[in-house]
Amino acid sequence: GRKFFVGGNWKCNGTAEEVKKIVNTLNEGQVPSQDVVEVVVSPPFVFLPLVKSLLRPDFHVAAQNCWVKKGGAYTGEISAEMLVNLDIPWVIIGHSERRLILGESNEFVGDKVAYALSKGLKVIACVGETLEQREAGTTVEVVAAQTKAIAELVSDWTNVVLAYEPVWAIGTGKVATPAQAQEVHDELRKWLHQNTSPEVAATTRIIYGGSVNAANSKELAVQPDVDGFLVGGASLKPEFIDIIKSAE
Ligand code: 13P
Repeated sequence: GRKFFVGGNWKCNGTAEEVKKIVNTLNEGQVPSQDVVEVVVSPPFVFLPLVKSLLRPDFHVAAQNCWVKKGGAYTGEISAEMLVNLDIPWVIIGHSERRLILGESNEFVGDKVAYALSKGLKVIACVGETLEQREAGTTVEVVAAQTKAIAELVSDWTNVVLAYEPVWAIGTGKVATPAQAQEVHDELRKWLHQNTSPEVAATTRIIYGGSVNAANSKELAVQPDVDGFLVGGASLKPEFIDIIKSAE
């Protein structure tokens, strides 16, 4: 079975004081055991050491990005090696905000995923279509192309979680319906089956992101190909604990 995975993407939010409060709330929350659910929270880079030092041991941390290759003269970037050096186990790569606002291409994202994996990081790799692409009927084509750019460079998917995050659902309160999420997750798993291996398709977690909250997580979680969530806004609030509980 694929262990349920819940990620909290804090994006570019929080002061040190707020971050400590969020961590305290998480540390007090009653959640299923690590055998049932894997929980990873992703604070901004500058708070990673703080959060890692305070966070309960059954939860883990992720960076929200990293540089595409070995560090060096790349002002403002953070390398995969630095994350490894600080024992940060996970990194989110290819979030739609980076693709669309920072201009990261499918190829660049694929290169980053491959490099991060090669350094021993675990990767939450994000894909998803815009509203225009969905309305044009190209959703599956778009997410397949995004996944292909990763699959061309990655053969071992053990340390990859694939996050389907439709752009029109992110931060909009317009969550995908359980049927809409299931349909794309099923297409992604079929794509993996045909283009990687049946084993990779069967074992790779495909998680959903986009306006997930405590009120909608349960009906999404029971979809057969929804293996967890990547939560934005609600991961900053106590309801994140309730979202984690939807693993059961
Ligand atoms: P929201 O949950 O705020 O819609 O954000 C989703 C997301 O982008 C997680 O990476």
